[in-house]
Amino acid sequence: MATVVPPSKRECERCGRVDVWDDERMNWTIAEDDGEKLAGDPQCLHEWDINGSYNPLEPDE
Ligand SMILES: [Zn+2]
Repeated sequence: MATVVPPSKRECERCGRVDVWDDERMNWTIAEDDGEKLAGDPQCLHEWDINGSYNPLEPDE
């Protein structure tokens, strides 16, 4: 049985938003750089640079 190692970081290829995985909250959180959130464009339909085969709990529900 293969062990799936989830990515711990993802970056949007369109707007530059960066998320990091928060183990405690089991969810993505916006990464910060020197206290500034790397939130990118809120209107963006983010295109994450990670492999689409790993699909953690969808936060949309
Ligand atoms: Zn984006």
